[in-house]
Amino acid sequence: MKNRVIIEKIVIAKNRIDYDYKVEGEWVKAFNLNEKFFVEYNLDLSLLPQSMAIIPFLANLLPMAWVYDAQIITPVCDKTFLDSIPDVKKGYKDMYPMMELKGELIVEKTEENHYTKDGGTGAFFSGGVDAFNTLVCHDDEKPTLITLWGADIKLDDAMGWEKVLSHLITTAEEFDTDFVTVKSNFRLFSNEGVLSNAVKNSGDGWWHGFHHGIGIISHGAPIAYLKEKRALYIASSFHISQKGQYTCASDPTIDNFIKFADTKIVHDGYEQTRQDKIANITDFAKETGKKIPLRVCWESSGGGNCCKCEKCFRTIMGIYAQGFNPNEFGFDYTKEELKSLSKNMRYKNTFVRGALRYGPIQKAMQENLKKRQLPKEIRWFYSIIPSKIGKHPYLNFARKVKGKIKHILRRLVFNGKK
Ligand SMILES: [Zn+2]
Repeated sequence: MKNRVIIEKIVIAKNRIDYDYKVEGEWVKAFNLNEKFFVEYNLDLSLLPQSMAIIPFLANLLPMAWVYDAQIITPVCDKTFLDSIPDVKKGYKDMYPMMELKGELIVEKTEENHYTKDGGTGAFFSGGVDAFNTLVCHDDEKPTLITLWGADIKLDDAMGWEKVLSHLITTAEEFDTDFVTVKSNFRLFSNEGVLSNAVKNSGDGWWHGFHHGIGIISHGAPIAYLKEKRALYIASSFHISQKGQYTCASDPTIDNFIKFADTKIVHDGYEQTRQDKIANITDFAKETGKKIPLRVCWESSGGGNCCKCEKCFRTIMGIYAQGFNPNEFGFDYTKEELKSLSKNMRYKNTFVRGALRYGPIQKAMQENLKKRQLPKEIRWFYSIIPSKIGKHPYLNFARKVKGKIKHILRRLVFNGKK
């Protein structure tokens, strides 16, 4: 039987959309059919046309259908979105030339949706460095903040979500703008393990390599329509200099081609390095007096920064490098805790790309500050060779010796068997 999903009904209740669908063919294993796709907004959806309401579901199905050469049959679709799909797919094809991306979308009725006024812009907001950079760079537009529950914060982590929500409310107040929350099971309606396995040729996993970009962005379609947003920003996490060296579902070659109704998507901040972004944020806070509590850490279950992990450390060092105190940017730690974090990162961590990540921070630090202006717990960072960060000189030596001995022993045993 051919791989196919037939969308039978789109049910719009007050603030929730449910999708009724049937899956056929062997790709059924890539679905969790006891988790039927739904989305929920803190918005009244009663004026939302079905052709816009279908977009979150359709967009989350599309990459699956391309990989499994499946047919999607939908009763209705927005014309702008439908027309944008070939360009979006081209972004995927260029990123994954080793994959055969096929599939087919059959739309029974196409509808045009247009806005009558200019409702400004919106920005997907997770609270990290990338998202806050987008917010400060577009502060004059007062973009509506859009935060999803079901992406990084799991749907069963109500406590984590409470923290995210209160952070969102504070930020919207501080930046004098509004916000929209979305609750979605878009990470649960399909089977991430099966899908990652299906794309293992690509060298990337399903969520990171194929799903999260269009998956997240498409949740903006109902919001964009109801608030007549002309553009939605999604913050980049990669930098243009890394082009061609990574794969990622959220990329300018994909995101910037997604369109619906009169809304375009802007993959924002691709030309700025992470250190540029931190500089924008700290300078903005200084100029405006606004509070910017960054939320960069996913180690602690939802909410605050743990101040123990590599991501926390990297951001803390980035803020020091600009001459600011991380305590004022959402990082809560004592002198003792900084000492232990600093020691762990200096000697006990194994970094894949230590030099790449820490080189630019150190450079900014040397440009902006004298060594003695730093807290003494982290002064070592000022002049260490970045590739040596995380490597204990003695432990490293011991590890090398151990490896050599093992090698010699193995050869001796091998020779003995001959
Ligand atoms: Zn952390």
